[in-house]
Amino acid sequence: MTKLTVLATGGTIAGIAGSAIAHDYRSGEIGIEDYLEKVGGLGLEAELSGTQIANIDSADIGPAVWQALHAAAMAALSDPACDGIIVTHGTDTLEETAFLLDLTLPGNKPVVVVGAMRPADAVGYDGLRNFANAVRVASDPDAAGRGVLVVMGDRVFGARDVYKVRTRGTEAFRGFPRESVGLVTPASLEWFGAPWRSGTDAAFAWSDDLPEVVILYAHAGLDAAAVSRQLVEGTRGIVVAGVGEGNMPESVRQELARLAARGICVVRASRADEGLVDREPEDATNGFVAARALNPQKARILLQLLIASGESDPAAIQRAFDGR
Ligand code: ASP
Repeated sequence: MTKLTVLATGGTIAGIAGSAIAHDYRSGEIGIEDYLEKVGGLGLEAELSGTQIANIDSADIGPAVWQALHAAAMAALSDPACDGIIVTHGTDTLEETAFLLDLTLPGNKPVVVVGAMRPADAVGYDGLRNFANAVRVASDPDAAGRGVLVVMGDRVFGARDVYKVRTRGTEAFRGFPRESVGLVTPASLEWFGAPWRSGTDAAFAWSDDLPEVVILYAHAGLDAAAVSRQLVEGTRGIVVAGVGEGNMPESVRQELARLAARGICVVRASRADEGLVDREPEDATNGFVAARALNPQKARILLQLLIASGESDPAAIQRAFDGR
């Protein structure tokens, strides 16, 4: 029997409304022991053990929870009695946690992040099916060569690709540039293509001290003064959620170029859905980096890890954004 470690952080998958039809509910109400008892009736072909890392709404997830989650995941990955990990998580910031783990965990065993869009006592609760699907994926040794995976709505997504696209409904996630990397049901799993991750080493060492990186949301009428209003003491990087292909008003561009010349890393991403941002000729003179297919919140995480690892050269940072 496959042995899986479940690291629980809360979210709607562990949420309770107190009614099958209510709209409002509280995230992170069911503890991991009760949750494992709940899924015990599904007849899943895996031995599950659980650890409660947190039990909160994922809007409140941040460095402290990430640190505890990463440490628990590292312990499980080096435990011969563990074959794979499932992380239960709120869907609102699931993509950020999944991408952070993808960049900082070794790839020796499957790691799957899963959530739900409806609380556990709602009619049509999707959490049980998503969880059963996650067990199916985490039990497949082939999953390990694909980095951290996200399972939602019968689909498997790569952590780098996945993002939340809807505030309601069970089909709330999409992947870009790869739509999804597999299809799953509690009884079947089909991968699209071969594993892509070579070697098992983590791309980045874990850092307890992630630097301050802000996201600047561009819009019509944004002026240069907004840049300095957003900077806090010790800001090391700025990700622009640009209009279109990472664009911004000219005065903002000039202000950011001044900051880049002073050593602040500036990454151009897009506020658009499916916002692929390629380099433009002025990036070299401005000292900017293009986020490629990463959305602003994921670009922020990659930039934090790069800065924490001592990287500040825009050309080297660009190479990291270009890489898969
Ligand atoms: N607000 C919830 C959370 O992210 C939403 C969810 O889990 O679906 O924790």
